[in-house]
Amino acid sequence: MRILITGGAGFIGSHLADRLIGEGHSVIAIDNLATGHTRNVEHLAGHERFKFIKHDVTEYMYIEGPVDVILHLASLPSPVDYLRKPIPTLKVGALGTHKALGLARAKGARFLLASTSEVYGDPLVHPQPESYWGNVNPVGPRGVYDESKRFAEAITMAYHRYHGLDTRIFRIFNTYGPRMRPDDGRVVTNFIAQALRGEPLTVYDDGSRTRSFCFVSDLVDGIVGLMHSRYTDPVNLGNPKEMKILEFAEAVQRLVGGASRIQFVAPTDERTKDDPQVRRPDIAVARRELGWEPRISLDEGLSRTIEYFRGRQAAGGL
Ligand code: UDP
Repeated sequence: MRILITGGAGFIGSHLADRLIGEGHSVIAIDNLATGHTRNVEHLAGHERFKFIKHDVTEYMYIEGPVDVILHLASLPSPVDYLRKPIPTLKVGALGTHKALGLARAKGARFLLASTSEVYGDPLVHPQPESYWGNVNPVGPRGVYDESKRFAEAITMAYHRYHGLDTRIFRIFNTYGPRMRPDDGRVVTNFIAQALRGEPLTVYDDGSRTRSFCFVSDLVDGIVGLMHSRYTDPVNLGNPKEMKILEFAEAVQRLVGGASRIQFVAPTDERTKDDPQVRRPDIAVARRELGWEPRISLDEGLSRTIEYFRGRQAAGGL
């Protein structure tokens, strides 16, 4: 197949590109490099089945030739990024998704939307099944991301129902792994970079909020499974193993080794406003429809991620 990945030079997009090239498909990666980086796909440069196009998906997209599948991942998913760039965040979720859907319609392509656990906001139902409508503050600082993805889901379903477009929606829960940006501000990258530099690990507030961390290869398995399935309602893709952020800090400390301590900090900016208290996917739908569940343990996934960051550190990029 000929597969287009928006956000194809990003963390998850580039891993998807690797997988699909490995399976014999052709991949066109589109990225405006706002948060993605050519470093993530440089090993694919020159490959006869790989093509990179630097382009902002909020602008009209022209692609020559047939396209069988569009994987729409372009987004600004890190809280630090979307708090700093709220309007581009809304634009890529809304205008970018509209453009990508229009292209899918013109090409008769299957369309997969990368959505997020943030559609559940600060959830009042735990763990979160796909049937939960969520608890989002539309006017809070996180609303720019949450609502852009909720709009993206709504317009995807509208194209599905009104135009008969063949669509899929997956909701990603905190995914980590090699190629995350060291300065993306998320808890995984902050803690690993801090531990490697011998700095204190900045646990916000008392570290009692929870997240469930999924290794990127597991997520990629789920996305590829969904691409081949017939299921058109949203599917949660995440690892149901939930932990407190303080426990996560301790795991990073243990695996990096060294002398870093934990420092409790109370951010005074908007970083922790409306921060979900708990998050854990209910993956019954993915198990049933895709026969999918995560396989990589936190220790294994974190070790591989730490190794990647050690490499970045050795190259002077941490
Ligand atoms: N967090 C933290 N220290 C950091 C960065 C994040 O304690 O240096 C917390 C943050 O407040 C949130 C959780 O870790 O409760 C996950 O944050 P992240 O930015 O990774 O993503 P989110 O799941 O909130 O989108």
